[in-house]
Amino acid sequence: MKLEAIAAFSDNYIWLLHDGHDALVVDPGDAAPVLLALKARGLRLAGILVTHHHADHVGGLDALRPHLDGPVYGPAFETIPQPCLPCEAGDVVELLGQRFSVIDVPGHTSGHIAFFLEQPSGGGAPILFCGDTLFSGGCGRLFEGTPAQMHASLQRLAALPGNTRVCCAHEYTLSNLRFAQAIEPANQALSDYVAWCEGQRRQLLPTLPSSIALERQVNPFLRCTEPAVIEAVTAKLPAGLQPPTAPDYSGDAVAVLAALRQWKNQF
Ligand SMILES: [Zn+2]
Repeated sequence: MKLEAIAAFSDNYIWLLHDGHDALVVDPGDAAPVLLALKARGLRLAGILVTHHHADHVGGLDALRPHLDGPVYGPAFETIPQPCLPCEAGDVVELLGQRFSVIDVPGHTSGHIAFFLEQPSGGGAPILFCGDTLFSGGCGRLFEGTPAQMHASLQRLAALPGNTRVCCAHEYTLSNLRFAQAIEPANQALSDYVAWCEGQRRQLLPTLPSSIALERQVNPFLRCTEPAVIEAVTAKLPAGLQPPTAPDYSGDAVAVLAALRQWKNQF
């Protein structure tokens, strides 16, 4: 199975998975780049996966339907352009002969789901389509969910096999990594990754897919129990809230995530 990122809008990726004949796409916010990619490769569109309801993820659905020879699968608890087969945690979706497990990942939106393919046929590392929940070096904004929900969702994804290819829906990596470096300036894996990503972007290549193992090393939102991360959010507190009156972040990963997310919103 071949995995490719189709660029859309200014920084979206519509993921394309195909076997040379049949294809699926994930979160087609725009139909035009998808149709171009299918035509250039001589592919039949056999299915569509949708992670959440935002327009830049579903906006191309209706224009793709006349070209679609298969189902659209999307979150059961969000309003998606119909027809769309509803999916929720524990469901297994079969497309192109591949079995995708559905994972609930609320936080960015309340019904956000992710699709996980553990064993792509013909080999290759597992694949995760995580929409706007996990980004490389960051996470989605909390539009509809709570920090506790996002923390639980990210931990669910962080528990997937380390070699899982992480297919995020936006090229936000370098901007996320600038924030990550403000949190953990001494993290060597992070510095190495920044250098690699800068090289990719200089050549106009995606920084994605990332991997779960890498995200565990560099993504502060997956590292809420790391002493350096706890120290950074504590140091960021206003002077009146410095220790010993500061909130105790150690042992409260949700509070750390909430503080990180709030800081990142203004970074
Ligand atoms: Zn979104």
